[in-house]
This record gives sequence, C-alpha cells and structure tokens, in this order.
Amino acid sequence: FLKRNHHLCISRNSLCNISTSMERVFSGIQPTGTLHLGNYFGALKKWVELQETCGSVLYSIVDLHSITLPQDPKILHRNILEVTACLLACGINPQKSILFQQSKVSQHAELAWVLGCMTTMARLGHLPQFKEKSASVKDIPLGIFVYPVLQSADILVYKATKVPVGEDQLQHLQLAQHLAKLFNSKYGKLFPHPKALINDDCTARLRSLRDPTKKMSKSEPDPKSRIDLTDSEEVILEKVKKAVTDFESAVTWDPKNRPGVSNLIAIHCGMTGKTPEEIVQDAQGLDTGKYKLVVADAINKVLQPIREETMRLLKDPPFLEQILEDGSMKASSIAEDTWESVRKLVGLSS
Ligand code: ATP
Repeated sequence: FLKRNHHLCISRNSLCNISTSMERVFSGIQPTGTLHLGNYFGALKKWVELQETCGSVLYSIVDLHSITLPQDPKILHRNILEVTACLLACGINPQKSILFQQSKVSQHAELAWVLGCMTTMARLGHLPQFKEKSASVKDIPLGIFVYPVLQSADILVYKATKVPVGEDQLQHLQLAQHLAKLFNSKYGKLFPHPKALINDDCTARLRSLRDPTKKMSKSEPDPKSRIDLTDSEEVILEKVKKAVTDFESAVTWDPKNRPGVSNLIAIHCGMTGKTPEEIVQDAQGLDTGKYKLVVADAINKVLQPIREETMRLLKDPPFLEQILEDGSMKASSIAEDTWESVRKLVGLSS
C-alpha cells in the first residue's frame, strides 16, 4: 500500500516537474572503487549544480555495469556504500535528487534486452571503451561488449533529456541517441532525445598521473595514477609529487606536447575556477617541482571537507542503505511506467 501511494506521489511530482521544465537528468557512476578527481570534475560537480536547477534528477550507482569485469563480492558491497557516502559528501541531496542503486530497479536490465535486440554487433565492436577494456582481458565477457546497451537503457528508462558525463562517455551517449531514434521510428514515439552535457573546460577529461596518455580511472590497478576524493593530505602530496611530467622545468599550458604538466594545470583550474592562462601567469618563477606543492595544497583545500564528511557517513551503513532503498523505490515507479509502454509498443503485452 505504501509503495502504491508512494508511486502515485512520485508520478504526480515527476509529471509536474516535466510539465514545467520538460527536462529530466540521468547519470550513473560505477562502484568500482573510490571516486577520484576525474569523476568529481567529469560528473559530480555538474550533478550537484543540476539538482539545483532541474526539477527531475536521477543519479544511479550502476552496480550492474561494475560486474562486467570481475569484482570481489565483499568489496563490491562496501564500494556501493562508499560511493553513496562520497556522493552525499559532495553535495548530492536525496531531497532534491533520486539517488539509487541500479540493480534494485529491474527495468534497466529488461529494457536493455529489448534495446540489445535492436543493436548490431558491428556498432558495439567499434566503441572505444570496449576496445580499451577488452585489450587487457583474455576471455572477453559478453557483459563488457553489451555495456553501452545497458547504459542506453539506464538513460531511456527514465526518458532522460540531459545526461551529464565526462568526455570519455560521448560515444556511448551517441548510441543511446541512436537507439531512442530507432525505437521511436520502429515502434512509435516514446523516448525524447537524450542530450550530453559535457564540461567545456579543461577538466572534461583528467588524465592518469602516472601515464598522461590515459584517462584517470577508478579501475586502473596503480592507485598512484589518480587522486581519490578520500585521500589524506599526505597521500595527495605524495601522489602529486610523483606525477609524471617531462624534462622541461617551466610551467606552461600545452596539453598536446606537455600532457603531464598540463594535466596538473587542468586539475588546478578545477580547484580554483581559474583559466589555464591565469594559472600559468600565477606560476611564473616556479619550476614544476615547486608548482606541484601549490597544486597539492589547492587539491587538499577542496577535498578536506569531502573526505571528512565521507568518513563520518561511512560510520552509519544502515543510513546509507536506507537512502538507496528510498531512492530505488522512487526510481522504480518512473521506470515501471516506461517499461509498460515499451511492452505495449513492442507487442509484448496488449
Ligand atoms: P572505471 O575505471 O571503473 O571504468 P571510471 O573512473 O572511468 O570507472 P565511471 O564510473 O565509468 O568512472 O564514470 C563515472 C563518471 O565519471 C562518468 O560521467 C565519466 O564520464 C566520468 N569520468 C570518469 N573518468 C573521468 C576522467 N578521467 N575525466 C573526466 N571525467 C571522468
């Protein structure tokens, strides 16, 4: 009974929000490890801004995506709670955003099946993340191949119109746009066009601190390749000091030819809100060694409150579980409506 009432309440709310703004935001994050600065700038900062300006906002901890590569079950569950704590600490407010766990809403997987039946192997095989992730795996799991189809379902099951992502996800979003269009033309108009919201500043793609040709990533085995949002002041300093730069000692902005030092400048821009030109101007007279100390200090100033709040929240797992449970119920009520429409349009029900 409670769930039914809740469902009505959410449906009305979401209808209200949609009729006033016609916009719905969806984005997801994998519980594959501690969140890092790339996630913060590529996703979380924008997520927090959007919950203030858009009436209907859903953020998902996409645990089904995370098991496309092997995960230790005990660590996975801890990671789900850790990511939840970190999102709350960064400013996600469950009163304004629906924060939920993907596997608790069965319609993601159900819609992924329907969309998978409309996707070709050739289209999926070309996607860069598949190529990158499968390169290090001997026997490639099917899940990693169909990962972008599940991602399309995540977005379309909420009829999302805005999808804030980092630059690395752009081609996956194009698949969701293609599938929305294909579904609409084949079965009848159901899905709006999901638009990518990508940072247009230099933080759209932060690079690994150890190999600046690669992106900063949670699942990269070397923890020194990234700054985690919960790293202590000492760890931040150590990682920044060891960040790979080059033989030139001046601090200059040249992402193509000097990706290491430019990555530090990009991080510094994100921390201070300054442009690369302003940062370079401020750093005149410093060599890269001394500049690294300035960057580490700027990172610590932003991360200190996030780190402390995450640690506080992690002491209360039942509270975090409840947030996810409540969010998943709200998300389910929206997803159920879409899934029912899909079933009718495809001919799976009358
Ligand atoms: P994994 O290494 O397990 O694939 P990830 O660190 O790449 O994880 P995801 O959970 O796949 O992160 O992505 C969450 C969000 O963070 C996405 O919107 C993605 O675009 C963004 N993101 C991830 N890495 C970066 C990065 N290096 N720079 C900017 N944005 C990023």
